[in-house]
Amino acid sequence: MSGQGVGRKSGVAQKRVAGAITDMKLLIVEDEKKTGDYVRQGLVESGFVVDLARTGLDGRHLALTELYDLIILDVMLPDVDGWHILQALREAKLCTPVLFLTARDSVEDRVKGLELGADDYLIKPFAFSELLARVRTLLRRGAAPVFNDQLQVADLVLDIPRRQARRKDVRITLTNKEFALLELLVRRQGEVLPRSLIASQVWDMNFDSDTNVIDVAIRRLRAKIDEAFEPKLIHTVRGMGYMLDIGGKVG
Ligand code: CA
Repeated sequence: MSGQGVGRKSGVAQKRVAGAITDMKLLIVEDEKKTGDYVRQGLVESGFVVDLARTGLDGRHLALTELYDLIILDVMLPDVDGWHILQALREAKLCTPVLFLTARDSVEDRVKGLELGADDYLIKPFAFSELLARVRTLLRRGAAPVFNDQLQVADLVLDIPRRQARRKDVRITLTNKEFALLELLVRRQGEVLPRSLIASQVWDMNFDSDTNVIDVAIRRLRAKIDEAFEPKLIHTVRGMGYMLDIGGKVG
């Protein structure tokens, strides 16, 4: 049985081509035993192959030496924290999608994570169903469109570190909130985002807060992003929320 542990590296690309989500291999890095066990069990039951690292050191080692289709990364780890693991991964030019887990009320964490090249985040505590939905979305999207510092949809380009937007090479000036809103829409491209979700992720407001703020912000964003350009990217999905999409005709 010895000498057999290393042979799996070449398998991942082929699995992705085959597209069977049940062959997908995930890494969870989570030091809280209950959360780690709970997430692992749920993902295994959903058909994924799952490795669980309970320390940052183990997590970093596995992330750099094994190939995963997705990494679920807790930020607060007692030894090597999630940011260092994410940084190490991107420095090694590994573009494995990363979903990070962060505590409530830490906008800075979220901004930092996305700037370091994470693909999405989830705020603790979360429902497993939400984690699973995010995991599936990221896996569908694959690693390809993720660049470290630029996001692009049609001719719209977001420069994440500089917090700048361009369309057809025209520089568009946005406020911080407008940029955060646009970034969220671009990262979740093709998904209908309810006002409550936009409120919690961009404004840190609760569901029952005055969500008129969002409609006003969307209107301003549209005037800047869509008014002078084609195709229109920001769409209203009546009764549901907003969506960024190329050429989608919804409401
Ligand atoms: Ca933790």
